[in-house]
Amino acid sequence: MEPLADRLALVRSSVADAVREAGRADGDVTTIVVTKFHPASLVRELAALGVVDVGENRQQEAVEKAAELADLGLRWHFIGQLQSKKTRSVLRFATAIHSLDRPSLVTALGSALQSPVDAASGVTTIDAFIQLNLTDDPARGGVNPADLETFAESVLATDRIRLRGLMAVAPIDADPRRAFAGVRALGERLTALAPGATGLSMGMSGDYREAVLEGATHLRIGTAITGNRPVAG
Ligand SMILES: *Cc1c(COP(=O)(O)O)cnc(C)c1O
Repeated sequence: MEPLADRLALVRSSVADAVREAGRADGDVTTIVVTKFHPASLVRELAALGVVDVGENRQQEAVEKAAELADLGLRWHFIGQLQSKKTRSVLRFATAIHSLDRPSLVTALGSALQSPVDAASGVTTIDAFIQLNLTDDPARGGVNPADLETFAESVLATDRIRLRGLMAVAPIDADPRRAFAGVRALGERLTALAPGATGLSMGMSGDYREAVLEGATHLRIGTAITGNRPVAG
């Protein structure tokens, strides 16, 4: 087997093992392959191996790849910091935005969705996750858990954003299982306000098993599948 096919098969079977260990159903967990910094050709190879969900964290790069690969019918997940003025461009190709992290972005998204992006795309709604900051460092991005309800109310008050759940990255120095258990508990606070927002986007190459055990619905896995990323341009 090719190395890429090999790594993908290995991750798929490990995810399936974790799903079984957690007593969950296969269909409960979506694996998003994070392809940032990799060329469109690698995404095409992944699609040929049956990958449907891909994740990108830089707007310009994602726009270019999504345009080049429009024939593949992929679902593009935007997982990076999003500048408010770039929301329209991301709405043209994204299935979901995992990084709602501040009120100004919610406002920008809301107004972009009110005046459809362009007649051809007809995009009028977007799935979105609230990104949590599990560290004490505001520079890390994401909503402070103490502000979750207030922020969620502002998202829920914005027409055409479908709030799907929470997104988080486990802090480097923390036990990922505990961090994800914390996210699960915050998810319960969120569903008290928004019963449909049951999604938990958490778990990366090094900690996806722990994430599945704590209820992750969307894994964002890069290097374990793609190999090391080329150096950022
Ligand atoms: C890059 C990235 C990932 C994937 O990280 P890996 O460790 O390569 O699996 C997941 N989530 C976010 C937000 C990322 O930026």
